[in-house]
Amino acid sequence: MTVRRAGLPLVLLALIGCRTPDPAVSCGAPLSDSIDRDVTVDLLVDDQLAPQAGETVRRALLDWGQCHGARVAVRVRVGRDLPVPFAIRHDALARLTPDAGQKSLTEPLAHLVRQMATPQTVSLSVAVLRDLAPPESAAALLLPELHGLGLPATATTTQNLPWLRDLPMHRVPMVLLSWAQMANQRPQEQVATLAHEIGHALGLAHDMRSGNAMAPQGGLWLDAAQVQAMRDAVDAVR
Ligand SMILES: [Zn+2]
Repeated sequence: MTVRRAGLPLVLLALIGCRTPDPAVSCGAPLSDSIDRDVTVDLLVDDQLAPQAGETVRRALLDWGQCHGARVAVRVRVGRDLPVPFAIRHDALARLTPDAGQKSLTEPLAHLVRQMATPQTVSLSVAVLRDLAPPESAAALLLPELHGLGLPATATTTQNLPWLRDLPMHRVPMVLLSWAQMANQRPQEQVATLAHEIGHALGLAHDMRSGNAMAPQGGLWLDAAQVQAMRDAVDAVR
């Protein structure tokens, strides 16, 4: 892994890190086929956050399911000692060797992934964290408004993300959300953030079409091929 001057490999966040979905969006046209699957979600919420954070994301998950015809069931858990994954400061990271730098990035994530990998079969594991890349962190130099990350379950969809190989093996698609960022979003934007990260977790890449859920600026519609890919990813977890 290359560690650049800023101390973070650009590829690390550029491929799956995402900024704010900009416009408020509705579930309206053009929506494609429905996902038509039962999607069981394990929702892990940092215990330092108000109950409102968990409730807001739970509602957003249900709204996402409503939009895309997924039958969503959410189980909420409170998590203690959940890390802020990309909190390391730029000056601290700059003093580390590349290997130690990599470790400083993957260890908090590995700790989190272990807590998110539940023994019960779930379709999706979502963690609501205090933050992902705090303002003073090295990561914030690259992505000052990092709302979420989607971690796909299968190696084939992570081949461009070699750093993921250092994470514990898991079979559950995972979404990490920054409450510091999401708390300031309108409900429609929160659903769009979630839709985008769920898309990544279920193997979708960015899509530049306006208003698409996988567009960097956010939206909610998906085309038939995207929906089919998400169905396949949900089926693969079972
Ligand atoms: Zn993205």
